[in-house]
Amino acid sequence: MGLLKEWTNDFLHLVFPHNCTGCGSDIVSDDQQLCLRCTNSLPVTNFFNQPGNPVETSFYGRIPVRNAAAAYYFTKDSLIQHLIFQLKYRGNKQIGAYMGRLLANEMIVGNRFNDVDLLIPLPLNPKRELKRGYNQATQICLGIQTVLDKPLLEKAVVRKVYTETQTHMGRINRWQNMDGVFAVNSPELLQGKHILLVDDVVTTGATLEACAMELLKIPQTTVSIATIAYTL
Ligand SMILES: [Zn+2]
Repeated sequence: MGLLKEWTNDFLHLVFPHNCTGCGSDIVSDDQQLCLRCTNSLPVTNFFNQPGNPVETSFYGRIPVRNAAAAYYFTKDSLIQHLIFQLKYRGNKQIGAYMGRLLANEMIVGNRFNDVDLLIPLPLNPKRELKRGYNQATQICLGIQTVLDKPLLEKAVVRKVYTETQTHMGRINRWQNMDGVFAVNSPELLQGKHILLVDDVVTTGATLEACAMELLKIPQTTVSIATIAYTL
């Protein structure tokens, strides 16, 4: 029996090899996406236990977020860029959950996010979600849930219209473009709650800002923001 199991495992490994998403090494257990070396090489920000960190200050004067942080620095041609690319454009859902688990581990170190009541993934354009087959922010939330026992309200806020690509617009245009894009579905579920809004990367924060603004219209609601990565 033991031999058969061993043989089956070897066979499965041959047919469905499980390798590190970072370096391709096969020294990685089945429930992990990265080997230890790659995991340890990720550029940790330590923002989660740092009040007034760059992600948080980037929202000052825009929206009153309670806390905001990103787990890792996002740089060009880095492992983190590769992982985000795998998650968004290569259908690697598992890497999202894996990164969410790492994010949650960063989050619990600082105690600043302890009183979060629930998780909301930043809604994706419906068209894009259909094409991708999933919302990457939801995958990240599922990973957070394996560490922190918090409810996930995926459809509490939705994205209404499809906005054109925003890469070449300034912040003002981008914000105007975002106006009225989000709609809250079930305000009664969110009233008085501390919401953690989750996304993969924070760059200008315009989309997170527009979504948080909509959530903050609900009475006694507070919003914090957590992302996997932060672009300098
Ligand atoms: Zn590796």
